[in-house]
Formats: sequence, C-alpha cells, structure tokens
Amino acid sequence: MDFEFTEEQNELRRQVREFVESEVAAGTFEVTSKAIVAEVSKSFSRKMAQRGWIGINWPKEYGGQGKGQVDKMIMLEEMYRYQAPTGYHFMAERQIGPALMKFGTEEQKKEFLPRIVKAEDGAMFCLLFSEPDAGSDLAAVATTAGKEGDFYIVNGQKVWTSEGHLSDYGWLLAKTSFDESIPKHQTCSEFIIDMKAPGVTIRPLINIAGEHSFNEVFFDNVKIPATSLVGKEGDGFKQIMAQVDYERSGIERLLQNYPVYTALRKYIAEMTPEDRHSDYYGWIKDVMAQLEIEFNVGRLMCYNTAWIIDQGKKPTSQAAISKAFCTRYEQKLNDTAMKIMGPSSTIRKGSETLSPAIDVAACYLWGPSYTLQGGSMEVLKNIIAQRGLGLPR
Ligand SMILES: Cc1cc2nc3c(=O)[nH]c(=O)nc-3n(C[C@H](O)[C@H](O)[C@H](O)COP(=O)(O)OP(=O)(O)OC[C@H]3O[C@@H](n4cnc5c(N)ncnc54)[C@H](O)[C@@H]3O)c2cc1C
Repeated sequence: MDFEFTEEQNELRRQVREFVESEVAAGTFEVTSKAIVAEVSKSFSRKMAQRGWIGINWPKEYGGQGKGQVDKMIMLEEMYRYQAPTGYHFMAERQIGPALMKFGTEEQKKEFLPRIVKAEDGAMFCLLFSEPDAGSDLAAVATTAGKEGDFYIVNGQKVWTSEGHLSDYGWLLAKTSFDESIPKHQTCSEFIIDMKAPGVTIRPLINIAGEHSFNEVFFDNVKIPATSLVGKEGDGFKQIMAQVDYERSGIERLLQNYPVYTALRKYIAEMTPEDRHSDYYGWIKDVMAQLEIEFNVGRLMCYNTAWIIDQGKKPTSQAAISKAFCTRYEQKLNDTAMKIMGPSSTIRKGSETLSPAIDVAACYLWGPSYTLQGGSMEVLKNIIAQRGLGLPR
C-alpha cells in the first residue's frame, strides 16, 4: 500500500476543503454533528454535482469522473470534517448507482444514473431492507412481491427506514418465491419502488435523541411495474451481499461526530490554568491522546479499505474491521466528551437559555445506533472470524 497521496489527490483535497470552508463561511449549512445521511440539502448536492463530485468514482460512461475509491474518500474526509449535508445523494451515489450499473437494465440505468450524478429532482433513495423480524438475517424478509401479469403487488412492512419520509424512491428487498423447498436466501428480489405510490404509508419513528430520521413503511397492495425488478428474480440476497462492503467501508463511520472532537479540543484548550494543574487534567491528556491514536488508526483503516477496492479486490473482512473499529471510536469520543465537558454537555441545541454550537448530548444518544446500522458489531465479528481468519462457523 502506498501511504502517500498523489499531487492530483492533494489538489483535490485542497479544492474540496476550500469549497466546504467557503460554504461554512457563507452559512449555507450549519455544522452539526449527528447522522450524516440525515443532513439533506438538494442545493448543496447540486453544487457538488456541478463540480463533478457526485459519482467521482463512477465510470465516465455513467456520468462519473472515473476516479478511484481513495479519491472519493479524500473528498468525503474534507466534507465530513464539517458535516457537509450530503444526505440528498448519499445513498443513491454510494449504493443505488453502483448496484444499477452491475445489475440494472439499460432502461433503469438511463432513467436513474444521470439523475443521481446531477442531483436532479427525484434522485433521493432510501433502503427498504430491515423488517421487524429480519435485520441481521435479511433473507428472512416477509414483505411479499407477488407477480400478476406485468406488475408485482407488494404487501408487508419495513422498519428503520432512514430518510424514508424524504426519499423519492425506495430500494426494496421483498420475497418473490413462496416455494418452501427453495432455500430462503434464494427467495427474495430487489425492486425500485416509488415512495409516493398508492398503498405506501410512512410512519415516523422518533429516536432516543428526539429526532426523526428513520421510519416504519407499510405496503398495502402496492402495484409496481414488472420493470421495477432489479437484477434477477431470486437473486436479491446475493445482490445485496455484493453491495454491503461498500456500505461498511466509508469514512463517514469515523467522521460522523468530528465536530465533537473539534469542540472538545477547543474546550480543553480554553480550560483555566488552575484546572490544568489538577490530577484530572493528567487524565484528560491521557484520554485525548488515546482518542488521537485511535482516530489515526481508524483513518488508515478506511483508506486501506478504499485502496483494496481500487485494486479490484473484495474488501469484505477489511471493511468489517474498519466499521467495527471506527464506530467504537465514535462512541468512545462522545462518551469522553460528555465526561470532560460535564453537565454543560447535556444542554441540547436549541434550548432556551443556552444553545451549544455542537449538540454533544445528541451525538452521545445517537452513538449506540452506530454499531447496529449497516451490520451489527456481532455480525461484523462473525465476518472477521470466518472470512478474515478462516475460522469454522
Ligand atoms: C440508525 C439506524 C439506521 C438504520 N437505517 C436503515 C435503513 O435505512 N434501512 C434498513 O433497511 N435498515 C436500517 N437500519 C436497520 C439495521 O440495518 C438493523 O438494525 C441491523 O441490520 C440489525 O438488525 P436488527 O435491528 O433487526 O437486530 P437483530 O438482527 O435482531 O439483532 C439483535 C442482536 O442480535 C445480534 N445478532 C444477530 N445475529 C447474530 C449472529 N448471527 N451472531 C451473533 N449475534 C447476532 C445482533 O448483533 C444484535 O445485537 C438502521 C438501523 C439503525 C440503528
């Protein structure tokens, strides 16, 4: 692995940093710190699109720049230092576009790929995978898509659908085969579904931080054209498995709460000389140095995973290691920030008396979800043990 960035990559970093800092200075978005996908701004996504930064690692024939995963990571690292609002195109760019390139029909590619890279209207997607009884075990989905002539009729329920209420389309996993003799991982298929289609009901779920990000989604005889099927019937589970490494390899897992880190360092730098002479300050220096070590390890893990992808290899075990490590780091960061900043860190943003710039309490409350979404810690460890270490199941 080459630990140096090229001149071209350093230039990309410089350009992105300059752009984001000018956007922050102009106040076009607020530097918050929570779930990156929840920060949705179509106008910000369009500015990125104009610079060719959406689909930067997509092939040129699909409107991308033909650059690598490392280039994309450099760009996202600079974006997420400030929590730039990439939520409008985030899911579509990371997962939907690449899946369509691999499994979609020519019509599907023509319809969606240009729209995604340009951040046009109707380009926001959510993932409709998890159900009340199917999370880690996705092959157990019970939502059905029964074929009737030129249509599929969808019935069932999804849960934890992030940004489902803002999305134009959903990427749906549903059961299409009802033959009990077929292994369950060969019974489901992937579809694109219009989130405003008759029969789709979206109900908000308010998370422990008091915020609306994910939803329950119900399907009641939703009629979708047969052309909405992506890939082959019965291949849905296999297709998803080909996508999850990309979901797990992102640097957003490390930088989701970066503004907390910045705020914490500023808080410590501004401590009084008396505080700095206490034993307590020795502990602060120790935990901050440890966080810095772990941040740098996590960052290298993310770049290493991106580099593996650029070599045309599958990063399954490395992506799992990276996600497991980085999400634990994020939880530790929020935990440490609450301990050091004390009672003041529990004051929520928008509170009447004093509104902190960074809602540390919200980040702390979001924290437990990081080691669940996109593959739980236990599931990741199973992957590392079996695929990485070759241990028996
Ligand atoms: C913030 C957030 C956003 C999300 N957004 C989306 C979204 O947009 N779309 C979507 O479809 N889903 C989404 N999810 C759902 C997420 O993918 C699931 O929560 C995750 O896959 C785990 O599934 P589950 O919650 O059903 O837990 P379960 O699978 O029921 O797991 C419960 C516990 O059992 C453990 N466990 C399960 N299987 C094993 C095993 N084989 N070995 C050892 N331990 C095991 C798990 O680690 C966990 O601790 C989101 C979740 C969160 C928290």
